Amino acid sequence: MVTLFIDDLEVQVEKGSTILQAAQQLGIYIPTLCYHPDLSTFGGCRVCMVEANRKLVTACRAPVEQGMVVRTDSKAARELQRMVVELILTNHNGDCLACKKNGECQLQQVANHVGITREDMDRLRPIAPPADTDQSNPFFMVDRSRCILCGVCIRTCEEINGAAAIEFGFRGNRTAVVTSNNSGIAQSNCESCGECLERCPTGALAKKNYERPTREVKTICPYCGVGCAIFLGVRGSRIVSVRGDSTSPVNRGQLCVKGRFGFHFVNHPNRLTSPLIRRDGQLRPASWEEALDLVASKFSDIKTTHGPQSLAGISSARCTTEENYLFQKLMRSLGTNNIDHCARLCHAPTVAGLATVLGSGAMTNTIGEIEGAGTIFVIGSNTSETHPVIGYRVRKAVKKGAKLIVADPRRIPLADQADVYLPLKPGTDIALLNAMLHVIVKEGLQDQSFIQSRTEGFQDILPVIEKYTPEFAEELTGVPAEDIVRAARLYAKASSAAILYTMGITQHTCGTDNVLTLANLALATGNLGKPHAGLNPLRGQNNVQGACDMGCLPGVLTGYQPIADAAVREKFSRAWGLEVPANPGVTIGEMFTRAHKKEIRAMYIMGENPVLTDPNGNHIKECLAALDFLVVQDIFLTETAEMADVVLPAASFAEKEGTFVNTERRVQRIRQALKPIGQSKPDWEIIRDLAQKCGFGWQYAAPVEIMDEIRTLTPSYAGITYERLEKGGLQWPCPSPEHPGTPILHMEKFSRGLGKFSPVEFNSPDEMPDQEYPFVLSTGRSLFQYHSGSMTRKSEGLNLLHGEEYVEINPKDAHALGLTPLDLVKVVSRRGEVRSKINITDRVSPGNVFMTFHFSETATNLLTNEKACQVAKTPELKVCAVRLEKAN
Ligand code: SF4
Repeated sequence: MVTLFIDDLEVQVEKGSTILQAAQQLGIYIPTLCYHPDLSTFGGCRVCMVEANRKLVTACRAPVEQGMVVRTDSKAARELQRMVVELILTNHNGDCLACKKNGECQLQQVANHVGITREDMDRLRPIAPPADTDQSNPFFMVDRSRCILCGVCIRTCEEINGAAAIEFGFRGNRTAVVTSNNSGIAQSNCESCGECLERCPTGALAKKNYERPTREVKTICPYCGVGCAIFLGVRGSRIVSVRGDSTSPVNRGQLCVKGRFGFHFVNHPNRLTSPLIRRDGQLRPASWEEALDLVASKFSDIKTTHGPQSLAGISSARCTTEENYLFQKLMRSLGTNNIDHCARLCHAPTVAGLATVLGSGAMTNTIGEIEGAGTIFVIGSNTSETHPVIGYRVRKAVKKGAKLIVADPRRIPLADQADVYLPLKPGTDIALLNAMLHVIVKEGLQDQSFIQSRTEGFQDILPVIEKYTPEFAEELTGVPAEDIVRAARLYAKASSAAILYTMGITQHTCGTDNVLTLANLALATGNLGKPHAGLNPLRGQNNVQGACDMGCLPGVLTGYQPIADAAVREKFSRAWGLEVPANPGVTIGEMFTRAHKKEIRAMYIMGENPVLTDPNGNHIKECLAALDFLVVQDIFLTETAEMADVVLPAASFAEKEGTFVNTERRVQRIRQALKPIGQSKPDWEIIRDLAQKCGFGWQYAAPVEIMDEIRTLTPSYAGITYERLEKGGLQWPCPSPEHPGTPILHMEKFSRGLGKFSPVEFNSPDEMPDQEYPFVLSTGRSLFQYHSGSMTRKSEGLNLLHGEEYVEINPKDAHALGLTPLDLVKVVSRRGEVRSKINITDRVSPGNVFMTFHFSETATNLLTNEKACQVAKTPELKVCAVRLEKAN
C-alpha cells in the first residue's frame, strides 16, 4: 500500500493506483472528460491536471508515490484546468440549450467546476460551427460539431463491445471520429448497442427522441438467455428508456441493441387488452369470467369424454419461473404430463446428453469466467448475434490473449477474430470432434490423471475415434486436416478451455450425440469442474432455463425430479393435494402429431408461437386446426393466437413480478414497472384464476408465495428466497438458506459420480441435397430481431436495421443461378415454399444457404424438416434440402 496526501487528507491506496483513483477513494472530485472507469486510460483531454509534489500532472495517468502531496485546488492546477476546458469549448458547438444531453452533459459539469459561466460558453463557442451530423442510425445521432475528441466512444467500441466500428480519422484540425469505412454509422459494422452514447461526455452522441424518465425500475432484459440486468425508465404509464445495471455480475451495465432499444413492444397499440372468444368464426372481445368459464368447461368436457391424455400444454420460456411452475402444476392437476416448451426445439439434447454423462444438463461455468479462459471453442453458436453480451466477453478474452477456435458452416462474425476457423459442412460436427479427440490421444495431450480419477469409459471411445484421422474427417467435414490438428492442439494444450455452443450443435437428428461428443472432448482434457473452462450451452430465451427447472417437460417435475420415480410423485401429490399422473407425457412434436390423429383434442399454449417457430409450419397449422379446442395466452395476437378458440391477454415482463433464470443458472428478480395494459393480467394470475375455475382452489396472492412453494419441493432451489435474490441473484444448486449458490458445477465430483465417456459415430443428416433440392438450408438469428419477431418487430428502429428476410447465398451459386443482389427468389423444400430477397455473400459456402426465422411474411419454418433426434426429439432445424428459383 502507498500513503499519500490529497488536499491535506491522508489516504492509503494500492501500489500502482493513479492519483485520480486515490482522490475518488477520498470522495474528492477531479474533473475528467476522456477518463472512464470501464476503459483503458487515454490521458488525452488533460482536464484532470493537479499539482503533485509541486509538479503539474494528469491525475488519470500519474501513479501515486509514497508520501506524495497532491493539490487538486491549487491556483496553478485550477488555472490550467480552466484553460484546457476553454480550449475544448472553442472547438465545441456549445449550444447547450439545443443539446439532447442537456442536464446529463459531463462537459457542462466540468465547465461549471472550473468556473466557466454560460456567458463564457457563448463567448468561447465557435462562430459558425460546421453542421456535421449523422442521422443514419435509428436510435441515436452523431453530431461531430459537439465532439471533443476524447476517444471515449472509440475505446468503448473497441474495449467493451469489441466491434471496433469507429476510429480517429484524418489529421490535424480535421481529426474526427469516423467509421472504419468512413460511411454513415448505419452503413458501418456498428452493432447499435449504444454503449458509446452511454459514455460520451458531451452531446456528440445522443439518443433520438429521448424522454427523461421520472422513475427507474430494476429488472431483467426480456430477450435472450444472457439475462442482463436493466433499469427500465418510466414516464407516466410508458417505458421511455433502458440502461444497464453496472452492479450486475452478468452484464456489468452493458447491453446489446435489443436490450437497450427494443422496448417499444410494451406500450405498442397492438397489445392484447381483453380476452377474445371465437364466435361465428371471429375472435371477439369477452369478459374474463366468460373466457375462463369457457376454457375450464371445455377442458373438463374433453377430459371426461377423451381422457386426460387428450389435453396438452406448451408453456413459455418468455414467462417467469413462477408462471412456468403454475402452468405445469395445472396440466398435471388436470391429469396429464403432456407438458413441454420450446427447450424441445433448442437445448433438449443438452439436458439429455449432459445429464447422461455428467448428471446435470446445465451450463457448467459462468459468463464472467469466459474472459479468463486460455482457449475458447465456439461451435454451432453465432454468439455475438444471439448472445451479444457474451460475445463481448469472448472478444475481450481474445484481446487479453485467449485463443479462439470457431467451428461453424457459416462465416459468423466471431470467425474474423478466430485463431482457427473450421468451416465444417452442416451436420458433420461428430466427425470433426472425433478427429480432434483422435489428434489429442495420438499426441498424448489428454489429461490422464483427470481421466483416471474422475471419469469412466475412456477405453470405450478409443476404437471409435481411431478411424477419425484428420484426413478422414477432412473428407467428411470439408475442413482441412491441418486446421483440425491446430484446433485440437489449441484446445488440449490450454490451461483452461471453455466450450460455448448453441443450436448449431443441438438442432440435428444427432443433437444428443453431438453433445456427448463435446462432453468427450471436455472430459478427455480435464476441462470440467474448474474455472474458465467447462461445457457451456448458451440458453436461447430469457427464461428457458427456468421453464426447464420448473418441470415444464414431460418426464420431470421441478429440479429435474423424474416423474417415473414413485417417491417423487408421492411428494408432489401430498403437497398439491391430488395424484400426480404417472403416465409419461409427450413432447411438442408428438403433441402435434397426436393432435393430427385426434388423440390430443385440446391445447393450452402460453407465450409461444409454434406456427412460426416450429418446423414444417404448414403441418403445424394443420395440427392446430385439427384440435377441438385451442387456448392461446400471449401479449399479442400472434399467428398461433389467430387460430385459437380463446385468447387470453397476458401482461408483459414490465408489468409483473417474479424471476427469470439465465443461462448460467442464475435466478434473478424481475420487477413490475407498469400496471398491466388494458385488462391484461400477469400469466400467473391467469393460470391461478383458471385453476380456480377448474376446481383446484389455488389461493396464491403474489409470485413470492409461488417461489416459497417451489423451494419446499425442489432441493436445488431450497435456499432461494426473494430476499436473497436482491443482491444479484443466486446460481442453483442452492440447497439451503445459508448456501451461497454454485457458480461452477462438478468441482469435486460430477453430479452422477464419475464423468462418462460415450462412443459416438458420425451419421449424415436426415435430408441431404440432391438434384431436385441441391442446397442445404440452415436457419438462425439476427442481432437486430428476436425469435418470431412478435416483440422486436414492434420497434421501428430495429426494423430499420433489419426489417425483412434475405436469403444468404454464395456468389458462385448466385452466379450459376443468374441471380443479382436483392433479386427475389422462391425457396422451395419438400414441405413448402417462401419468397425472399437474396443477399449474395461469402459468409455462406457454395451449396449452402441461410435464413433467419424472424419474419412472418417469409415464414422460413414452412421449409424446415421436423425429423428429430431420437433421444431428445429436437427437430433438425439446421439442415434441410431446398432449391432456389428466381421469382418475379
Ligand atoms: Fe438482453 Fe441478451 Fe442483449 Fe443482454 S445480450 S441486453 S439479455 S438481448
